Amino acid sequence: MSAAYSYKRQIPVYDSADVIVVGGGPAGTAAAIGAARSGKRVILLEKSGQLGGMGTLGNVSIFMPIGNVTGIYREFIAEMLDSALPPGHDQSIAPQFSPFVLRHYLNEKMRKEGVETFFHAEFVGTVAGDGAVEAVIVSTREGLQAIRGLRFIDCTGDARMAIELGVPFTSGRESDGMTQPMTLMFMMQNTGKPVRRYLPEGCPAYRSVDELPQGRHLFWEQNDDGMLLVNMTRVKGHGARIADVNAAEPEALRQVFSIVDYLQRNGFENYALSHVAGQTGVRETNQIQGLYTLTESDLTNGRRFEDVVAQTNYEIDIHSPDGHRTTDERHVDGYDIPYRCMVPVAFGNLLVAGRAISATHVAMSSMRVQATCYALGQAAGIAASLSIDRACECRDVPIDELHLAMAAQNVRLWKPEHPHR
Ligand SMILES: Cc1cc2nc3c(=O)[nH]c(=O)nc-3n(C[C@H](O)[C@H](O)[C@H](O)COP(=O)(O)OP(=O)(O)OC[C@H]3O[C@@H](n4cnc5c(N)ncnc54)[C@H](O)[C@@H]3O)c2cc1C
Repeated sequence: MSAAYSYKRQIPVYDSADVIVVGGGPAGTAAAIGAARSGKRVILLEKSGQLGGMGTLGNVSIFMPIGNVTGIYREFIAEMLDSALPPGHDQSIAPQFSPFVLRHYLNEKMRKEGVETFFHAEFVGTVAGDGAVEAVIVSTREGLQAIRGLRFIDCTGDARMAIELGVPFTSGRESDGMTQPMTLMFMMQNTGKPVRRYLPEGCPAYRSVDELPQGRHLFWEQNDDGMLLVNMTRVKGHGARIADVNAAEPEALRQVFSIVDYLQRNGFENYALSHVAGQTGVRETNQIQGLYTLTESDLTNGRRFEDVVAQTNYEIDIHSPDGHRTTDERHVDGYDIPYRCMVPVAFGNLLVAGRAISATHVAMSSMRVQATCYALGQAAGIAASLSIDRACECRDVPIDELHLAMAAQNVRLWKPEHPHR
């Protein structure tokens, strides 16, 4: 075993609330709203200075289509991107958005919903005992502080809080633990005239599509404003491991400059680099072991569950974990995600929402997109609130009541006539 210290100190209790949400990405923001609309006092802890998770911090500013456009996600589209709002819930949309607008929108939304947001508040530890969490320890601009709560929702994407508590988890492919690669997203802007190219030292000049990190073009252009969103870098590694992230950040930025140079030589002569995400995006890290684990066969068989909380028909979408330039993309018709995927096998007052739910490597490649994480988060926030009202553990929340409370928050779940369960 490597060297270790025992570290003990008194931590002041800064605040408390009914529901504490850790992580302000798609799952966390929706969880906070879901709990606040259920009448609970909510504190949302976010380690950065912005809400939105990968959608803002990672510049992943396009929502992939999931089929069921409902609940808070539908409300966001109606309020922020109304021209993209589909008339029916089942019509898929894939709207591109400004990460800056979403960042502002979410700040205002939290204020209106009465959610107390703590920025630059990074979860670092827990106070727990007797199968329940009592408080989280947070690193803030005023040092370490404790925040107490009755229910906790881990929306860190990495299951950081659940892992800290000792909840069992898996990572990546079942065969070798390798995860999908990381990508540093960026934007280019059409300036209407040729731009001066700049390839910094150490950044290779790509000569053909085959030499690009993903071996393909992958970008979206908004029709009206000449803004190109580029998803073309690719760095192998595990986004929740220190050494891998240390290597990935500089490598991904080298690739950004090389891809910009390549695009400017190949049809995008008028486009200037206009924004690079503040951090390299992480697709996949850790999955908790929950009461149910979503599997590839659930996706391919279109499985339906009594305790459904989210529905999606987003494809299986696996960027090669091996460092190859390939992506495994497979259509799925649509499936349910059950509540039990968010309930960890240990700790009665903890839920995990977002991409770190209990799912296999293949299953998470489909459920990971933002709209699904918003749906999971909203359900988790409502369930946490219900478990307080019913004085029960999160695992015992009555599903019929959860569905009624979700419906009251405009979540519409599609019910097939002949479900195969
Ligand atoms: C490169 C890339 C491209 C993608 N492409 C698309 C796409 O085109 N469309 C799409 O819909 N989805 C896409 N996705 C997937 C999607 O963006 C994510 O899976 C989704 O954002 C996950 O949501 P989440 O809330 O679970 O986690 P995240 O979005 O990762 O949010 C987690 C939040 O928790 C915070 N946090 C983490 N640790 C702590 C801590 N210790 N204390 C406090 N806060 C913490 C983080 O700062 C962050 O704000 C892509 C992802 C990547 C990386």
